[in-house]
Amino acid sequence: MHADASANFVATLSNRDGQVRHDWTITEVRALHKLPLLDLVFRAASVHRANHDAGEVQVCKLISIKTGACPEDCKYCSQSKRYTTEVEPTPLMQVDEVLDIAKRAKDAGVTRVCMGAAWRGAKDNADFERVLDMVKEVNALGVETCCTLGLITESQAARLDEAGLSAYNHNLDTSETFYGQIITTRKFADRVKTLANVRETNVTVCSGGIIGMGEKADDRLAMLVTLANFDQHPESVPINVLSRVEGTPLSDLPDVPWDDVVRMIAIARIMMPKSVVRLSAGRSAMSESEQAMCFMAGANSIFSSETGHMLTKAVPSPDYDADKALLDKLGLHFRPPFKDGTAPRAGHVHHHEHSHAHGHEHASCDGKGSCGGHGGCGGKHQH
Ligand code: SAM
Ligand code: SF4
Repeated sequence: MHADASANFVATLSNRDGQVRHDWTITEVRALHKLPLLDLVFRAASVHRANHDAGEVQVCKLISIKTGACPEDCKYCSQSKRYTTEVEPTPLMQVDEVLDIAKRAKDAGVTRVCMGAAWRGAKDNADFERVLDMVKEVNALGVETCCTLGLITESQAARLDEAGLSAYNHNLDTSETFYGQIITTRKFADRVKTLANVRETNVTVCSGGIIGMGEKADDRLAMLVTLANFDQHPESVPINVLSRVEGTPLSDLPDVPWDDVVRMIAIARIMMPKSVVRLSAGRSAMSESEQAMCFMAGANSIFSSETGHMLTKAVPSPDYDADKALLDKLGLHFRPPFKDGTAPRAGHVHHHEHSHAHGHEHASCDGKGSCGGHGGCGGKHQH
């Protein structure tokens, strides 16, 4: 290696890489962001390989359990009733309908099913009870379950926990500074409070954001600083690229260059070494080689679909077959469920069916991994 190149390369390495830290500064993260792309990717890939099986990618399925007519004004969203988009509102789905989609997803290799509702937040009503039933039924398939229902209280988080929910998604979406340009009907602090409510339970936290909404690079980095400096890193960090939706105020924004996505993934990977980083909305606009670069940079999850879209038809997604072919081509395999240190969540109703579905023969856990849950449940999640 040429001496200058070598010195440059060594300067990119940090002996703190791979540590789980909660003291990130924006200055440090700006320095990461300025690295030559391939140095950044190499560094992120090293952190990734030290903390994960780099041959694995978790495939997730989003189900829009209640679509559209949302009172919020999120400027990117096809489901806000304030904008006229192609999305037709539909009421809350029946449990069986959700279960059918989840079963097909599992057959296609999906190990995490995320149920999303176009609500400002959950209400203590019959609809919420139905969501709890969905969680229990989908859990019984032996896949991870995630809900994204908007704002939730501590007691609603506790009820989701009791039902056996694996994860709750609530994205920060962007930096605290830029947030007011995108959403005015709820505050950044409201989002942080929902995440704190989830943290009071055994349910893991899924939180990330969107790039390409007109924010500056510093806003992207500040969002990652907020996520990484929480007392615990979110176990799951979705990185979305804006899917421009006709009829929304953000429909005319320019494309996000692919290298911006790679940078965002790589920085998230370095800052939150153990989290699952999910290459989420916007993936369908990326070539196979661009996606491969994201996997190299530390993305270890994608959303796939049988319908060619993510939550709504306004946000396209590659389908199960295309994704299987891509993973095969790259020599990647499907990540099994519950590898993030969590245990299979049975809820109280379906434990036996669940254990069966997931291939476990025991009915109790000593918190040391004997339940097959990789030792993370502390014996407290179930039974
Ligand atoms: N209503 C709930 C909420 O806002 O928390 C849950 C559903 S919401 C659609 C889930 C997330 O999807 C949003 O926080 C946002 O990050 C992402 N999202 C929605 N529309 C998007 C778009 N057009 N492009 C990229 N990401 C989008
Ligand atoms: Fe409603 Fe969620 Fe869309 Fe915002 S992102 S408009 S809260 S569905």
